[in-house]
Amino acid sequence: MDAKQLQTYKQHNALLSQFIVRLSAFYEGFSDQIDSELQILRGHLSGTPNFTLATVSINKLNSALQHQELTLKKYSIETVALLESATKRLQKAIFEDTDLQKQATQQLIVLNQPVGDIFSIYKLFKQAIELHHTALASEVTSDTDITHAERPKPALDSDSDTIVNPLYKSILEELNQLIASYAQRQPNDSQLAAIQKKLTAGMSEDQLLKSCVVILRMIVQDAMAEASLTGKVIQSLHNSLGKMGDDIQLSMDNSRTQFEQRQVGNAQLQSHIESIEEAVSHSNSLESLKEHTQFCVKNIASTLNEQAQLDSQGQHSLMGLLGSMQSRIEQLQKQTQTYKKKLAEQMMLSQTDPLTRLPNRQAYNEKLSKAFQNWQDNKDELAVAVLDIDHFKTINDRFGHAAGDKTLQLVGKNLKQQLTDNIFMARWGGEEFVLLVPGMDEQSVTDLLETMRTTLASLPFKFKQEKVTITASFGASFFKKGDTPDAVFERADSLLYQAKNEGRNRVITDRDK
Ligand code: GH3
Ligand code: MG
Ligand code: MG
Repeated sequence: MDAKQLQTYKQHNALLSQFIVRLSAFYEGFSDQIDSELQILRGHLSGTPNFTLATVSINKLNSALQHQELTLKKYSIETVALLESATKRLQKAIFEDTDLQKQATQQLIVLNQPVGDIFSIYKLFKQAIELHHTALASEVTSDTDITHAERPKPALDSDSDTIVNPLYKSILEELNQLIASYAQRQPNDSQLAAIQKKLTAGMSEDQLLKSCVVILRMIVQDAMAEASLTGKVIQSLHNSLGKMGDDIQLSMDNSRTQFEQRQVGNAQLQSHIESIEEAVSHSNSLESLKEHTQFCVKNIASTLNEQAQLDSQGQHSLMGLLGSMQSRIEQLQKQTQTYKKKLAEQMMLSQTDPLTRLPNRQAYNEKLSKAFQNWQDNKDELAVAVLDIDHFKTINDRFGHAAGDKTLQLVGKNLKQQLTDNIFMARWGGEEFVLLVPGMDEQSVTDLLETMRTTLASLPFKFKQEKVTITASFGASFFKKGDTPDAVFERADSLLYQAKNEGRNRVITDRDK
């Protein structure tokens, strides 16, 4: 090989190496197999090239690339098909927005044309996502205020009856409920109020996520405050009891020392008396006896005096101890009272439905188990009534979720107002309420429910200047021998569904069966 040939050969090799380096950079991360094979190939071509091994490597690369090409084509076709079906679904959902409709149609036309290179799919993606964003933004910013005009809903998918972007919708509902329960506890929290306002006005997915984070943080803080409240009370009880224990120990130590000092004093008194006795028997003159006796009496007096002082000190410290124990006990009582009050408040909240402020299902279950016990003991009449608002979904659909919420509050309030204190009413869930009616016979229960039904039906509801009649269906059943609470509830529930089937806005009780 002459020098010129060698030079050309070297140039070709350099060009090839450069090409392979570029190809490696382009393919990097595409496929592990191609990545590593290209690396091997670069090794074979660098320094002194080994063309035999490089050929083996190139063959392997060839077949890997061929396989990749097929996979890529398959993905491209699938992706375009997915984009097409998503756009068609969107088109159905936004049937009322002509502008968006046009954009969706154009998008579908583009999607039906042959796809060029792989990068053109990215463009299609971008367009489809932008279209979805525009549709979503116009959907969530629609007005939900009861009194203002609102874009007509529902944006429903015709096949499945689900609302477009159900995840967004369900997060929104969840957040709404969470906020309602927190707003009830913290009515002055400005952050909460701001989120509530935004929720009503509609928020972007970004804002929704941020709001979720704020609420989560609030819940965690609340839980921590709760834990530290309990911790604090227990710690303070522990400290107070510890201090009392120390005081009592100190007082016991003092009494022991006093007892020992008293023993010493008693021994001294004993010896003074003994020395008087001795003086009486051994004195030879009245004068010396008198002198000796006077000395002893003086000693006795001073010992008694010391003892009296010790006693008064003991008495004093005992009074001090009792005084401090009394104030500690008072302090403990105050702390436990505050804690009990807080616990009672929390208990109340955990048994209250945040939206209607009526007792919730948990409260109903507790009330029911007591009423059931009472019924077993006394066999007095006891009925369970279930009621469900008729066609409530259409209120939400036509006037928005906020209007639905307000309706639930008003219906709950109105029904509750009609009841005497001995009748318990709770929100069972959704647009269903449950009543526990003790001590009334079938006729009286039917009369009561009939009155509730007609009063509700005559309430003048008004949404966006439109008068709307709200009705409910009722089912009620009485406890009978051998019944369980579940069995009675199920009977009441199936009577309610019978009332629905028979045309709604009616009461059916066991008596009608
Ligand atoms: P039916 O007469 O058969 O009872 O019809 P309905 O529309 O009342 O019953 P359905 O079970 O189909 O719908 C109940 C609706 O109540 C669906 C749900 O979105 C709505 N809902 C449940 N809880 C709440 C709530 O707290 N607030 C609002 N606004 N809507 C609620
Ligand atoms: Mg209903
Ligand atoms: Mg229902």
